[in-house]
Amino acid sequence: VSSEELTRAHLDRIAAVDGDLNAFLHLNQDDALATARDIDSRRASGEELHELAGVPIAVKDVVVTEGMPTTAGSKILEGWVPPYDATLVERLRAAGLPILGKTNMDEFAMGSSTETSAYGPTRNPWDRDRIPGGSGGGSSAAVAAYEAPLAIGTDTGGSIRQPGAVTGTVGVKPTYGSVSRYGLIAMASSLDQAGPVTRTVEDSALLHELIAGHDPRDSTSLPDPVGPYVEAARRREVKGLRIGVISELEGEGFAPEVRARFQESLELLEKAGAEIVRVSCPNFQYALGAYYLIMPSEASSNLAKFDGMRFGLRVVPEGGATAEQVMAATRGAGFGAEVKRRILLGTYALSAGYYDAYYGSAQKVRTLVQRDFTTAFEQVDVLASPTAPTVAFRLGEKLDDPMAMYLNDIATIPANLAGTPGISVPSGLAEDGLPAGIQFLAPARADERLYRVGGTLE
Ligand code: GLN
Repeated sequence: VSSEELTRAHLDRIAAVDGDLNAFLHLNQDDALATARDIDSRRASGEELHELAGVPIAVKDVVVTEGMPTTAGSKILEGWVPPYDATLVERLRAAGLPILGKTNMDEFAMGSSTETSAYGPTRNPWDRDRIPGGSGGGSSAAVAAYEAPLAIGTDTGGSIRQPGAVTGTVGVKPTYGSVSRYGLIAMASSLDQAGPVTRTVEDSALLHELIAGHDPRDSTSLPDPVGPYVEAARRREVKGLRIGVISELEGEGFAPEVRARFQESLELLEKAGAEIVRVSCPNFQYALGAYYLIMPSEASSNLAKFDGMRFGLRVVPEGGATAEQVMAATRGAGFGAEVKRRILLGTYALSAGYYDAYYGSAQKVRTLVQRDFTTAFEQVDVLASPTAPTVAFRLGEKLDDPMAMYLNDIATIPANLAGTPGISVPSGLAEDGLPAGIQFLAPARADERLYRVGGTLE
């Protein structure tokens, strides 16, 4: 098929189902079709193009796109049109991928269900009364519902992998520094990482190779060569590979059928020649607590720039006001409850007198989690756990219970704290016939191993 046909087919699919799903916040159809036609004519004239040229893609709305509204799921950015592209978007455009539009997400990527979006929740295509995971539920739902063959997500505490698990898609959080953060609206700069959302492991590998690589505009960008991920995914070879099951992440708290699918996936890998052992990461039990101090601390600082002066919304109280009153009114009206909760948490954790007790302790736990990884990777090549504790829950079920919501990321957060890469691949259908995921974690800069294991399961 031509890229124009492919792009049109996806736009038609979006028109047919997105009224219900709400996976997209903005559609970019004219520009996407123009790109598709350009690729078709360049291909016809014999030009050598990237393997993904002409394949349409959806981009999470936390990634800035020149000329396309970017809201990060927040009212405070409503109407803001960025004057530049994120580095990863530049790379997508340069390779000729038509951008279908921007996908829905929890406000500023804070959440595990896409319900904190100021633009309404996204529904899970497997069961429209259920959540698609979060924060990147829009990207994962779009891929699961065949609205897009590929999407971009971001993962600060699990927002690519957990939505992947509950929508039956593949999601990869690359090694921290692998994909440039330039042009990502920062939530927690030391944890944020963008990555692929796809239906197959091989597609993730292709997309990862395209968007990764050094970027002088991101001070934490790694200088490493990229890949070979595609080759690793295609090789499907795990003979002799040691896979460590994380004892702390498979017992109580994980739904019975999620655990059963996890065990079955491990058996498949064992049959393929991998060696399955158990390893203990004793400090992982403190990771969630540390994350919910470090993440809000960084977010409270990163979100200070949304003050009604620079971007998007500006609320001027009636009868005129001082700059400070405008800022307060704008932030009061523009931020949702979860964002305010985290700004308060972070501001508190960073304040004089509490800094050592909260932020300081959390940083120490972060080091201990990193050490657990180091010790574990002396014994095994990759680690494994279920990606999320349960299948997709019902819309509204956890919205009023932040602690229950936060627990969704119990298995995904350690990798963000350590900067190590992770992949979630479907492990089969669990409770209520809904998809579950298995997560593999590798040492920093060894992303290639994720594709070897993930590819074998496909
Ligand atoms: N659900 C986690 C949170 O709310 C992770 C979010 C993310 O990875 N962006 O912080």
